[in-house]
Amino acid sequence: MLDPFAGPGRFFKGNLHTHSTRSDGAREPAAMCALYRDAGYDFLALTDHFLAKYNFPVTDTRPYRTERFTTILGAEAHTWATELGEMWHLLAVGLPLDFAATPPGQDAPTLAARCAAAGAFVAIAHPSWHGLTLADAETIGAAHAVEIYNHTSAVKTDRGDGGWMLDALLARGHRLLTCAVDDAHCKFADWFGGWVMVKAAALEPDALLAALKAGRYYSTQGPEIRALEIGRDEVVVECSPASTITLLGRGSAEAAVFGEGLRGARLPLEKLKPGGHVRVVIIDANGRRAWSNPVWLDTVPG
Ligand SMILES: [Zn+2]
Ligand SMILES: [Zn+2]
Repeated sequence: MLDPFAGPGRFFKGNLHTHSTRSDGAREPAAMCALYRDAGYDFLALTDHFLAKYNFPVTDTRPYRTERFTTILGAEAHTWATELGEMWHLLAVGLPLDFAATPPGQDAPTLAARCAAAGAFVAIAHPSWHGLTLADAETIGAAHAVEIYNHTSAVKTDRGDGGWMLDALLARGHRLLTCAVDDAHCKFADWFGGWVMVKAAALEPDALLAALKAGRYYSTQGPEIRALEIGRDEVVVECSPASTITLLGRGSAEAAVFGEGLRGARLPLEKLKPGGHVRVVIIDANGRRAWSNPVWLDTVPG
């Protein structure tokens, strides 16, 4: 069997996508870090818009780290243009402070590759909100993940969901992870809606980044995935009280259980095996969701 959360350490709660006054956010970096730190988050990535009009910021959040709270440096990188003629938004968590300004005309695949080469965990941001197409997303070969939930987009435009794009990319053979984020700007109540729970040996930026790239985390709006085991014939899940526990595969393939206060499930893989990959979604009584990363069945030990 395969346990995506195997290894030493514990789960750390973090938000990977946030803005401050270094770009178009409403609050200073110190205030944003305090907001999350005081709410019990273990870490935060401030990811200001990496644009010339903001002097290409990689916001230095190191002064706001404490014994129990750390930060990962990063930015949201941009360039032109998507299929609909919009600006690209690429989340880059784990950039050096001296990350070089984006050269004029650098295309999105090259920009994403440059972020990844500099050490970043790269995610395709809020695909629904700005009408990103599948063709657009398929060009970003350096991406580690697609945002499955972007809270500010959900609050502002009802376009917070990225699951359709994740599934379409998986169906075409792309091996991508997924993440839920706030993308908080604090111009309206757009914080504490989506986060990641990262299993890492230590609350240190490098350990968190390595765990993110390895997929040792899940994404959530509240529900907890307490254990996950992928065997040859079934997936075993333990979770906080849920109304639906569902296993999703290629196309329409699924296996789901329903009830009140479900604490876990054993989900048969039979119908999903031909698709080659599965992911778990937990839905609680309030409609809040937790999402596992995809697991590729050819990586499950015999
Ligand atoms: Zn954006
Ligand atoms: Zn953003």
